[in-house]
Amino acid sequence: MAAFGLLIASGQLAVVAGLAGAVFVAVVALALLLVAGRGDPVAATREPDDPQAAGAPYARLANALPDPILVISGGAAEDLSTRRYLFANRAARELFRLDQETGLLVAAIRDPQVLEAVDEALFGGIAADCVYESPGVQPKTLRAHARPLETAPEGGRLALLAFRDETELRQVERTRADFLANASHELRTPLASLAGFIETLRGHARQDEGARDRFLAIMQAQTERMNRLIDDLMSLSRIELNEHVAPGDRVDLARAVMDAVDAAAPLARQRDVRLVPDLPQAGTASVVGDRDQLVQVAQNLIDNALKYSPDGGAVGIRVLVALTAVHAVAGERPAAARLSLLTPDRAEGLYAVLRVSDQGSGIARENLPRLSERFYRVEGQKSGERAGTGLGLAIVKHIANRHRGGLVVESAPGQGSTFTAYLPLAPENALRPVAKMS
Ligand code: ADP
Repeated sequence: MAAFGLLIASGQLAVVAGLAGAVFVAVVALALLLVAGRGDPVAATREPDDPQAAGAPYARLANALPDPILVISGGAAEDLSTRRYLFANRAARELFRLDQETGLLVAAIRDPQVLEAVDEALFGGIAADCVYESPGVQPKTLRAHARPLETAPEGGRLALLAFRDETELRQVERTRADFLANASHELRTPLASLAGFIETLRGHARQDEGARDRFLAIMQAQTERMNRLIDDLMSLSRIELNEHVAPGDRVDLARAVMDAVDAAAPLARQRDVRLVPDLPQAGTASVVGDRDQLVQVAQNLIDNALKYSPDGGAVGIRVLVALTAVHAVAGERPAAARLSLLTPDRAEGLYAVLRVSDQGSGIARENLPRLSERFYRVEGQKSGERAGTGLGLAIVKHIANRHRGGLVVESAPGQGSTFTAYLPLAPENALRPVAKMS
């Protein structure tokens, strides 16, 4: 599973790296064109916005580039004051807060690693790369590439210094590493417990029939937990793989929810919790979606409501149709805290809404923002024997996102919780508003 995730991720990285490589070759070519403008590199680059200046079309092009680039000249290796930037495109001027188009390099960039890379390109004639962390409130991680350019006509040396923003890439790498560490940790816990019981059963508990039965029951629960974890991890990975592909089937949300209610009925009986569905007429809550995924949304929300409900409690499962986004997210528990865990990009039109409410332990306001994080579980909560994996709400959020929908939680400690998932209504339903609000 982990290897599968890594393979996908490294494939994505390779695609990004390939594209970035091609862009970089184009930047070097552009820099060469800039310095080649009518033979005089300084004249060619001094006034990038002056339409009369030689090389101006290339300067305009360079200014349109999102990546920062600078053309640097160097006289003598031992004299720092001979390193000057002859051209800095708009992105470079913004990054280094330059108000002049040419100037002393050390006055613009103080990072020793970047300066060293520039020297290698200028005086060693070789390509050099390094990482540059930009200072500021929102620091960025950039990769700096220094490349030697052809020697200037009057004998000076020239180099290109280009930067590529890798902040997002680093973030993705960090998230993936965290995810793998968490997933391994989650699987290791039941495995360690299994290994411990096997050892005990082979050792001093070998002849103890009572202990054997007890331990085997615990071992079974642990293997079931591992199974649940792997199922959830597989679901999450499948959902993420096609998250950007909009679903195409027409699904009656009410029927999908009813299937989830039926599936949860035995567990509800076992936990002595009443399931109270309130669903609209068949055919009115039609959404464009993926049926299995919508059943899973309902299942995960109902499962949680059951898990955190007290014995004898009730779980309300309502489907409402033709609500605007504002009505879909509107609260129904005045004393509770409410938070949107997912908001659709374009919250227009009408929605089909699934609300699952319980009378359980509730969740404190400060824990709400982390609910849909993978593996997050509120500490110290009682969830019965079916300990959760911490992946259920992450799955719900990703499915809602694929359906261009939203997810809201409303809760207060001791007063239960309401989770609301809302999805755009299919066009023909959206034309016939059936206002059912309560
Ligand atoms: P889990 O499998 O642990 O339930 P989820 O992602 O579904 O994972 O939920 C994350 C955490 O949010 C849960 O561990 C629990 O602490 C809290 N939570 C989710 N639903 C409810 C609920 N209905 N009532 C109280 N707490 C809930």
